[in-house]
Amino acid sequence: MKLGGLVKFTLIDFPGCPAAIVFTQGCNFRCRYCHNPELVYPHLFAPSVPEEEIMSFLKRRQGTLEGVVISGGEPTLQEDLVRFLTDVKALGYKIKLDTNGTRPEVIKELIDKKLVDFIAMDLKAPMDKYAAITGVEANSAVLRQSMDLILQSGLAYQFRTTYDKEVLTDDDIAAISQIVEGKNYTVQECLPVAKEKATLKVLHKEI
Ligand code: SF4
Repeated sequence: MKLGGLVKFTLIDFPGCPAAIVFTQGCNFRCRYCHNPELVYPHLFAPSVPEEEIMSFLKRRQGTLEGVVISGGEPTLQEDLVRFLTDVKALGYKIKLDTNGTRPEVIKELIDKKLVDFIAMDLKAPMDKYAAITGVEANSAVLRQSMDLILQSGLAYQFRTTYDKEVLTDDDIAAISQIVEGKNYTVQECLPVAKEKATLKVLHKEI
């Protein structure tokens, strides 16, 4: 696993579950508002956090923390994600996956193997504006496949959009909301990158 950081405690990132957040390095999107460039652009990667350090921390917090959020970057790009989450599950943690939805085959495997309890998927934009937000052409069939897997999984889930008002309109948000029938759909404010940089400093301090 290429791990970029650890937040040791959160009450807001995994609904109903006191959790830690594990960040993976690497992403196949290049979102214009990305607040974690150090987890996206390889030339900005810090040395990976040894997996043993994360596992050792999670062992120490068994019984105190209940969940682990695996976030990024894009966690489903990690070749050994299934093995890693199997190890985390074996410690008794609930797992929440944050994903951009581009690897439905990985999402399916995690669901089938019962390695995930909550899935949050970003819906970046209406399909015709995906590239304007993410910097890459989106495959709508692939994203739809991920959405359907999540909707049919029976797991807790959330779809969410960062409202970048330089690209998206209120009508775009309404259209995205309609795709998911407004269920478990949240729109989050697009924070200035500079403001988010402060968060990143905390993240690295936590490593
Ligand atoms: S998907 Fe997330 S981590 Fe990847 S570039 Fe977009 S905002 Fe950043």
